[in-house]
Amino acid sequence: MSEIHKASCDCGAVSFETPLNDLTIGACHCSSCQKISSSFYMAAHYTGEIEFNGAENISIYDSSSWAHRGFCSKCGSNLYYKMKASPDYSLSAALFDDKSRFELKTQLFTDVKPDYISLNANSENMTRQECFDKWGA
Ligand SMILES: [Zn+2]
Ligand SMILES: [Zn+2]
Repeated sequence: MSEIHKASCDCGAVSFETPLNDLTIGACHCSSCQKISSSFYMAAHYTGEIEFNGAENISIYDSSSWAHRGFCSKCGSNLYYKMKASPDYSLSAALFDDKSRFELKTQLFTDVKPDYISLNANSENMTRQECFDKWGA
């Protein structure tokens, strides 16, 4: 059963509502996510179309040949990471009003994670090489 989850950027210029049938989230420690977020990127996964309110305020950053990132052009909030060839969104978990039932399940690129970051979770950890082996690119 999926229910509607509300989300918005910090300034509110971009918002959306989406059903999430998977409340597990993943943390990515890759260098791109580090620079973009100042720490790590927490992603909630959603497959399908999303109708963004204030879509005209979304700027797209072409972050690699296989993926791009959306952010609010007014406040800079990260909105999503999206593979170009897939309907899958990695939505920023921080955008959601209710995060109380999110559960950290995976951590990616753990071998390039700075030592000062330690997430207290019984997550599945994957190194950079393991990520590339699993998803290619
Ligand atoms: Zn904003
Ligand atoms: Zn990353």
